[in-house]
Amino acid sequence: MKCPVCKTASLKYVSLESQIESSQCSNCDGHWISASSYWNWLDEHGERLPEKEPDSTPIEISDVQRAKLCPECRRIMLRYKVGHGTTFGLDQCGSCQGFWFDKNEWEALKERNLHDEVHLIFSAPWQSEVRKGQARQFLDSMYTERFEGDYERLKQLKEWIGSHPEKELILDYLANPEPYSKGAPSSAIK
Ligand SMILES: [Zn+2]
Ligand SMILES: [Zn+2]
Repeated sequence: MKCPVCKTASLKYVSLESQIESSQCSNCDGHWISASSYWNWLDEHGERLPEKEPDSTPIEISDVQRAKLCPECRRIMLRYKVGHGTTFGLDQCGSCQGFWFDKNEWEALKERNLHDEVHLIFSAPWQSEVRKGQARQFLDSMYTERFEGDYERLKQLKEWIGSHPEKELILDYLANPEPYSKGAPSSAIK
């Protein structure tokens, strides 16, 4: 089997963490784990470990973002973001279901206890959470930029209004430029 990244280097059999069988590229340090190796290992591994928070100094990985061909069946592999605060993606062959890990990606997953959930990363519910997380992150940085130093105060205010019994009236009051002369807002009538 040839490395899907370096293309000419051959993959060599190694035993990665707790006996999981992997084929490694000695050139780029990427790993190929076949579906059967992964599932055998997962059966042995037992119960899923609870996810861990990211370390303050995360493991350095080299995420190769271009499309790769499966080293076993030569089909283009599917690529999905891992999410959960990580910045890299993983590749899986849609045909033989094997996984490709670029250098240190497996180690980075293991550090977070996500290495026993690799099969779930490629599932629709996981990917829907990843997209929601990306949208949240995008909006949060947009608000941070636009509201600048007022953002924290605004968040506190939103929380306060949200839990207030007169929430509707407060919102009408704030939105109405002349709350004393245009008649009472509908939310004031009980
Ligand atoms: Zn390689
Ligand atoms: Zn394949």
